[in-house]
Amino acid sequence: MKLFRYGAPGKEKPAVSLPDGRAIDVSAEVQDFNEAFFSGDGIDRLSRWLDAHAEAAPEVPADSRLGPCIARPSKIICIGLNYAKHAAESKMDPPKEPVLFFKSTTALVGPNDDLMIPKGSEKTDWEVELAVVIGKKASYIKEEDANSHIAGYCVHNDYSERAWQLERGGQWVKGKSADTYAPLGPWLVTPDEAGNTADLRLWLTLNGQTMQDSRTSDLIFGIPHIVSYLSQFMTLLPGDVISTGTPQGVGMGQKPQRYLRPGDVVRLGIEGLGEQMQTAKAYHPAS
Ligand code: ZN
Repeated sequence: MKLFRYGAPGKEKPAVSLPDGRAIDVSAEVQDFNEAFFSGDGIDRLSRWLDAHAEAAPEVPADSRLGPCIARPSKIICIGLNYAKHAAESKMDPPKEPVLFFKSTTALVGPNDDLMIPKGSEKTDWEVELAVVIGKKASYIKEEDANSHIAGYCVHNDYSERAWQLERGGQWVKGKSADTYAPLGPWLVTPDEAGNTADLRLWLTLNGQTMQDSRTSDLIFGIPHIVSYLSQFMTLLPGDVISTGTPQGVGMGQKPQRYLRPGDVVRLGIEGLGEQMQTAKAYHPAS
């Protein structure tokens, strides 16, 4: 199943993209794709509801804005330096254990919303990543059980302010958490439709030029290991997002370095999980 959310920011409604190409509103059955939905066996229940009601459900207008594919979760956890060549371009050694950092959940936006370059930022950079959404509350998950804790997969652009992340001391969270820094979607794709997530192509272009083009088979720490590892340190809740790291080709790794400016257009995607597009805009206060 491909779950998505549409409508004005903060007022999104849940919807499903069907195999026949129709996109239908499922708000008659589901309040939102949130913690309660995932913990209450929501995907299986929605699947059964669709068998009986998909035909008559209202269609989503074709020009609708897409929101983040899930409601705001309890946490967004990111893995740093999880592709060997990206660690090298960042001038860091490949990690012996996964590098963890948090990203503010207020950074979430829809997959095609504008990127707003934050106030004072000179080093806003891109990072295409495969994100995992947790389906069950759990801690101390065994690696062999990890897949049964995953609700689905989606595309995430882990936007990063490199000066704030790396040049100002303290934790990376400062450079990862600005508004619009976490476009998520277009869809949350359930595991049965996501293909072999251990080997999917992921790519990103800047103004039409390919910057990142790799495969998840190059991950240093694979998805089951990451889910298990994280759960040794914190309880994972349904709807939590784990972003698995970015391959080489970020702006910081270019010679000379290349950071985003107003008017730049970023496109990215992952095989089977859909595509995103953001246009960079100068900082302006939220209305
Ligand atoms: Zn990242």
